[in-house]
Amino acid sequence: MGFKFQGVDFIEFDSLLSEDELLVRSNTRAFIEDNLIPIIEQCNRDGRFPRKLVRHMGEMGFYGATIEGYGCAGMNNVEYGLLTQELERGDSGIRSFVSVQSALVMYPIYAFGSDAQKNFWLPKLATGEKLGCFGLTEPDFGSNPGGMRTRARKDGDSYILNGEKMWITNGSIADVAVIWAKTDEQPESIRGFLVETDRPGFTATDVHGKWSLRASVTSGLSMQDVRIPAENLLPKTGGLKSPLMCLSQARYGISWGAIGAAMACYDTALQYAKERKQFRDQPIASHQLVQEKLAWMVTEITKAQLLALHLGRLKDADKAEFQHISMAKRNNVWMALECARMARDILGANGIADDYPIMRHMMNLESVKTYEGTHDIHTLILGQSVTGISAF
Ligand SMILES: Cc1cc2nc3c(=O)[nH]c(=O)nc-3n(C[C@H](O)[C@H](O)[C@H](O)COP(=O)(O)OP(=O)(O)OC[C@H]3O[C@@H](n4cnc5c(N)ncnc54)[C@H](O)[C@@H]3O)c2cc1C
Repeated sequence: MGFKFQGVDFIEFDSLLSEDELLVRSNTRAFIEDNLIPIIEQCNRDGRFPRKLVRHMGEMGFYGATIEGYGCAGMNNVEYGLLTQELERGDSGIRSFVSVQSALVMYPIYAFGSDAQKNFWLPKLATGEKLGCFGLTEPDFGSNPGGMRTRARKDGDSYILNGEKMWITNGSIADVAVIWAKTDEQPESIRGFLVETDRPGFTATDVHGKWSLRASVTSGLSMQDVRIPAENLLPKTGGLKSPLMCLSQARYGISWGAIGAAMACYDTALQYAKERKQFRDQPIASHQLVQEKLAWMVTEITKAQLLALHLGRLKDADKAEFQHISMAKRNNVWMALECARMARDILGANGIADDYPIMRHMMNLESVKTYEGTHDIHTLILGQSVTGISAF
């Protein structure tokens, strides 16, 4: 069952894109259509990450795509956004995998790492030979990561790490974990460390029973006296600002990715509504209430596209601020979740079955609404930005 994706362009949005940007989008769309769509529903049922796609995605230049050099594609931010849109049109889990590898592992190594760290890790992460994860959240500290308990103690020319991280994407399949920990420096500071996951005392245990992002690996990490060489410290990290800079990169990608999930739901609902007949042998697309839902969806998708595109152009001009990214992440994920719910409704009973991608996207988007700063935390960031008063 299911329908072939037709794309969504209501107001000649494509006329705002360059040839190269359109090419990245069409290449990624073809990759997802050929390689992910045929297997994703079964992966989702099985709770299995489609690991066989990892190296192929490396060959396609999907990892660290905005980085110049080190074997990376050197895309602009709009190309990167269109890439994440197409990945998430396939599945939020595959986009999460690429976001973590790119924005939360390669970006901090690129931005905060030494030359030796960059030269060793970036080319291997770019091909997918090595995989990474990003450990910020802890069991007791999610929205407020500054309260973290993980500690890194200096011991001669080593650091010794102790602590627990939770809800870590790619945790058990990663070769290297970017771990955020408080050091015993005075004053106390949050620093980033590269922790090879085969070090004694490091364990990763997968979270089971998820009803969301089932095709993505999510793990808890435990570190008990994990000794790493002092040169594994990311030297340019310092304070909570460092992980937040990584999150800004990832949130930007999410703001585009969510559009992809919304497009998949809208396009499925539109095609279904034109075929499905109820009352006087008429397609349900002829009923005003169904049209109202489709009109809402295409309008909100179009607004989200324009917001994401403008943000991408700002980012390329180095003018995107974190509050701009918060607005796009908050709005576009909310919009996508609303589209998924409306599309599910239009498909009636068929909407709950995995013959169609809608329910999977809806469940995935519940995680996307929560991770990388919850919807409400982004509300507070926007509130602080416009009032000058922090409410959290
Ligand atoms: C599938 C998945 C993958 C993830 N991957 C990663 C990863 O790779 N790396 C990583 O470090 N983390 C990851 N996370 C963790 C994610 O970033 C956190 O779940 C998120 O930051 C929210 O934290 P929390 O779940 O502890 O919720 P809490 O912080 O406990 O929040 C619960 C609720 O309280 C609200 N709330 C909290 N504080 C306030 C306030 N001051 N005012 C108003 N409302 C408030 C929140 O908005 C939310 O609605 C992942 C999460 C999921 C679900």
